[in-house]
Amino acid sequence: MTTMNEEDSYSPPELAPGKDCGSCSMCCKIFGIAELDSRPGEWCRHVVHGKGCGIHETRPPVCRRFFCHWLRNPNLGPEWRPEKAKFVLYTELGGRRMVIAVDQSNPTAWKREPYYSQFKQWALMAADTNRQLVVFHNDNAVLVLPHEDMDLGIINLGDEIIVDRKGMHLHVTVRRHNRGDSVAQGSHAPET
Ligand code: SF4
Ligand code: SF4
Repeated sequence: MTTMNEEDSYSPPELAPGKDCGSCSMCCKIFGIAELDSRPGEWCRHVVHGKGCGIHETRPPVCRRFFCHWLRNPNLGPEWRPEKAKFVLYTELGGRRMVIAVDQSNPTAWKREPYYSQFKQWALMAADTNRQLVVFHNDNAVLVLPHEDMDLGIINLGDEIIVDRKGMHLHVTVRRHNRGDSVAQGSHAPET
């Protein structure tokens, strides 16, 4: 899952005022780029550290079309800049899932403050609106719930993470398409 998702990440570049990539290249490390034979967790060979992309004019379409959530969200301040936060936020599934893709060298970066408290607030809202907040460290996923961080193990492309709210409970199911089976887990829903 640690690949740039061209379809879900592309949209016309409506960037938040004052936001640009600048010296950040975090997505050029976290994601694998098939066209460049770069692997997740390894810096793309075209990164010029502190400056950005060394082949900016000819970079592949998947790079041109990726705009992380920090660039788009005016409410996320400089502390959320990916090169500082050590994770990249993006949305997929038509905005129903927020992904926290962590720098492989800093796998617990998302648990630091002020990030973790904010993620728990987002998880609370997600539980009410049929949305998901998922941390990816390479292909390992953690579903962030209001009162729990649920380790889902390896999630491959095509696998489904299904979160159903029934009354005061969230029911979590992982449907693994390559194995044709489902693993169901339960979690208490927020009291608030
Ligand atoms: S992580 Fe975001 S801000 Fe950083 S280089 Fe990628 S798109 Fe730009
Ligand atoms: S080609 Fe440029 S934008 Fe694309 S991953 Fe490499 S350094 Fe980043």
